[in-house]
Amino acid sequence: MIHEKAPTQQKIDSVDWKKSLQNAFSNWQDLAAYLEIPLNAVNISNRKHFAMRIPLSFAKRMEKSNLKDPLLAQVLPLQLEHSSPSRFSSDPLDEASFSPYPGLLHKYKNRVLLITHPACAVHCRYCFRREFDYKTHQQSKDNWQDVFSYINAHPEIDEVILSGGDPLMHNDSYLAYFVENLSKIAHLKRFRIHSRIPIVLPERITKELIKTLSRTHLQKILVLHMNHPNEIANDVITAISALKAAGFTLLNQSTLLKGVNDSVAILKKLSESLFMHGIIPYYLHVLDQVTGSAHFAITDNEAIALHNKLKAETSGYLVPKLTRELAHEPAKTWLI
Ligand code: SF4
Repeated sequence: MIHEKAPTQQKIDSVDWKKSLQNAFSNWQDLAAYLEIPLNAVNISNRKHFAMRIPLSFAKRMEKSNLKDPLLAQVLPLQLEHSSPSRFSSDPLDEASFSPYPGLLHKYKNRVLLITHPACAVHCRYCFRREFDYKTHQQSKDNWQDVFSYINAHPEIDEVILSGGDPLMHNDSYLAYFVENLSKIAHLKRFRIHSRIPIVLPERITKELIKTLSRTHLQKILVLHMNHPNEIANDVITAISALKAAGFTLLNQSTLLKGVNDSVAILKKLSESLFMHGIIPYYLHVLDQVTGSAHFAITDNEAIALHNKLKAETSGYLVPKLTRELAHEPAKTWLI
């Protein structure tokens, strides 16, 4: 929902993103007061691990006094997260078995994923890495050389994905280190960043960051993780436009979430809004069965029915592929 004029890049550069991060909402008392919702309207989880984290920029897009707001639903830690069915697990994709070195996941033939940072600017309650063992993958700059050597020794790898957590949580100099080292590997063609930061903390997308990420001959791809059209605000549009102007190919993958985007009208509006801002809606994921996320689940039949209706409502390029990630498959699995 857009109410104000888009801020300029200069305005974005003038905000201290680290301070914004420090000031993110971390408890229900403050958030409830801000959103004008009675404290006892909901049972909140008090678990310390993966506790509430919501930057103000994202909270500003939530509707006041609406406990069912689709942005709030994605990030509100509820007590019912503690009662997961047994088929939900802490590592639903068995990622632990795809890691030849700390920080490196090699699941698919042509690409590897680097767990570059253990933290995120927001804690999405449906996240499939919410219980991930980040400690095993944390390492110093020197240890990354083993990972770069591994990529060097595997000419079939043509793309590297910077993931996490969120890679843009690193400061610019650390990111420069990744870009520089990856650019030296002769057989790499692309690097891809998966990040929710341009959406939840757009002040992080500074001119300096974009310059840092652009110092490479590799093709640059940024995959955003937007789930609802209300996530596209004016500061987000400024950040996205700057990335686009710097030559990033922008893709979006969403997760199909009960109570957030399980409606044809919302999915259609999301695709249209993304496309209007130069972002291709490419994947619509069904939920990974991670502990604590069962309240977002819809059945495969419901997902397929929604997808079929979306296909009948809009142009083919606005219909993301409906997919699921299955451990030990050579690629993502398309539901239809
Ligand atoms: S930003 Fe991505 S990795 Fe981080 S909590 Fe959200 S979904 Fe998970």
